[in-house]
Amino acid sequence: VQGRFVDVALRLALPGPLQFSVPEALLGRLVPGQRVLVPLRAGRDVGYVVGFSGEPKVSGVRPVQRALDEVPQLPPDLFALVSWIAARYLAPIGLALRAAVPQAVQYEGLRRAAARERLVQVASLLLPVAEAGGLAAQLARSAPAQSRALVSLAAAPSGRLPAAVLNRGALEGLARRGVVGIAPAPMVRGVLAPPGEILPPVEPSHAQAAAFQRIGAALAGETARPFLVHGVTGSGKTELYLRAVRELPSDRQALLLVPEISLTGQLISHLRRRLPFPVAVWHHQLSDGEKYDLWRAARRGEVRLVVGTRSAVFAPLPRLGLVIVDEEHETSYKQEETPCYHAREAALERARLAGAPVLVGSATPSLESRRRAAEGAYELLALPERHSGIPLPVVELLDLRLHRAPAPVSGAPRPRGAPEEPRLIAPPLLDAAGEALAAGDQVLFFLNRRGFAPFTQCRRCGEGLRCPNCRVSLVFHAPEREHRCHYCGYRVPAPETCPSCGAPALRLAGSGTQRLEQEIRRAFPGREVLRLDRDTASRKGAGPAVIADFEAGRADVLVGTQLVAKGLHFPRLTLVGVLGPDLLLNLPDFRAAERAFSIVSQVAGRAGRGDRPGRVIVQTLQPEHYALRAAAAHDYESFYAEESAFREELGYPPFADLVALRLDGADRDRLAAAAESIAGRVRACLAAETAAGRCRVLGPVPAPLERIRNRWRSQIIVKARPLEAAAGPLRAETRRLQEAARRAGVHLLLDVDPVSLM
Ligand code: ADP
Ligand code: ZN
Repeated sequence: VQGRFVDVALRLALPGPLQFSVPEALLGRLVPGQRVLVPLRAGRDVGYVVGFSGEPKVSGVRPVQRALDEVPQLPPDLFALVSWIAARYLAPIGLALRAAVPQAVQYEGLRRAAARERLVQVASLLLPVAEAGGLAAQLARSAPAQSRALVSLAAAPSGRLPAAVLNRGALEGLARRGVVGIAPAPMVRGVLAPPGEILPPVEPSHAQAAAFQRIGAALAGETARPFLVHGVTGSGKTELYLRAVRELPSDRQALLLVPEISLTGQLISHLRRRLPFPVAVWHHQLSDGEKYDLWRAARRGEVRLVVGTRSAVFAPLPRLGLVIVDEEHETSYKQEETPCYHAREAALERARLAGAPVLVGSATPSLESRRRAAEGAYELLALPERHSGIPLPVVELLDLRLHRAPAPVSGAPRPRGAPEEPRLIAPPLLDAAGEALAAGDQVLFFLNRRGFAPFTQCRRCGEGLRCPNCRVSLVFHAPEREHRCHYCGYRVPAPETCPSCGAPALRLAGSGTQRLEQEIRRAFPGREVLRLDRDTASRKGAGPAVIADFEAGRADVLVGTQLVAKGLHFPRLTLVGVLGPDLLLNLPDFRAAERAFSIVSQVAGRAGRGDRPGRVIVQTLQPEHYALRAAAAHDYESFYAEESAFREELGYPPFADLVALRLDGADRDRLAAAAESIAGRVRACLAAETAAGRCRVLGPVPAPLERIRNRWRSQIIVKARPLEAAAGPLRAETRRLQEAARRAGVHLLLDVDPVSLM
């Protein structure tokens, strides 16, 4: 019997759900996931039913005003996923809900619902799909446009497509034949209709065919383990995903998670050219109206494939049949605010709840995933070679210690007394670039730091220019002649003299992509050079435009940060120059080597994907570092072995789990005191588990980035094994920890499985 009291999760940062009483009329009629209207202070709000109890927890419990839907709006598997996220990531359920359900959906039909459905002309098939196929074949010669429109409609979910995406004359012809109806219906923004022509499937390589056989077995329900697709760059992982999606029965839906939508234009256009049904693209930049449309269309089962960033893991697909996580090692799958969930982990749970096969894929799997494969939790599908016999690029490590003090780039005589500019590109790389360009090939330069120069220092007093809000150096940006903070966005025009001592002795030091671009332009006058970093990609559509220009051969050289490292395919690119991997290697984070290995492997993997072999030159001061040596040898396994040994010795993931308690506050001393007191509470609550050797509490210590946006930062790290040894007691203590933080005037964020400890 259902209790007389109901727990309701609101879209608020409350520590838990609020309790209401169930009025007589609703007794026994409320179900989890259902929306209810409840009184809140002087007003009211919409929440979701999350549980029941027989007794009031406090006095003065107010009644639910009314139930809003017959059928729970939040499908049971999504409700289960939201609850799982709240529990696993120590987050209030209201915030987990907020991450999962678009606002316009939660307030549907109520005052706050800004979004309404819009009607458009929709064409729908009036005869069975099999007959439509036969008719399309008959019409192929006499009325080819009608034939193509029929094929598209037959492939679309429910045989419906917006009329605007099909040939108008052809539709009218089909309507006259009585096989297609055209009527106003809700329009779905964000769903891309299939293009007129679909490319035929490629001939799979040996490894692809073998991998697909296993995936086919999973689709047929013969095996339930998730797959780790470990395929070198250009091995055809995407091909494997496509084939799995195509083979899914038409009443099932697939979910494909990608790390960052702005970089997936190439992938999405590739998918669309190959899939004969509409694809929905889901990401956080969608408007509320678009999210509302997508949610409803997905819920109605009209979308066969959702491609999206981490929040797409919450797409309401009624018969989820396949979940794919591309580039599973990417850190952007982690949400850095409450709930701090990892979309890969959420996707695994979502698939488990739906009983759907999962593919997680990468050329450089995270240590967590590779270890699960080693332990048998995942089945490993290896694609060790590129498709069609294309070789992996040859990677050379260029020891920068042997190439010091190079001559100025331009070769022009230096004005007397001018300081010699250090040259960023060492002569062997410069020569290789010249040769590649002379042969008509394209060249890519990677440097993971944007701006012109990351430090500015006074040569007289030694002071550096720093951000007044953050404890970091300001980066000089040449086009605007200003210094910027990359953490808070502070900017100041470049001063002529040192702000500390007044001497006209400011010197720019170090280098970023702008300086690299300038050097390349000087070295190769007349060549088209493009730059892709967050500065050039920030204008809407500018990033994809740079990629499209380079892809179309409208430029010879591309310079960029890690934005150029990911998943891009440029057949004419044969040379990649990697600068400054040392920056990545030396970050104060235990995952620094893993990130360096991954980024260098990925950026190297852009070279030689067409019919000409690729070459990669990595300039470094640490050519003996195991991460670089393994990346150069395309030897993931030796990296994995070496890195695992280090992680195991120090008790880091994947050999233990971490929980970070991140604190920030306006006042340094108050923060330090609060951090000590909260660490004391954490130690007390984990005392038994610590004594049993299943937990260790470290800190508090100032974060490596100690001050950001005028806030001082400190962190407490808990190492646990298993995770629940820490998460269990902390879950029970969260409310009190948050209360203590609030009383001390500091902000506390609980981050389970943190991906960055900066
Ligand atoms: P990955 O995702 O592993 O880097 P992709 O799946 O993007 O590789 O494949 C790279 C390119 O190779 C794509 O243009 C794809 O169409 C092509 N390709 C993949 N597999 C094959 C194959 N078996 N035969 C021919 N081309 C293929
Ligand atoms: Zn700043």
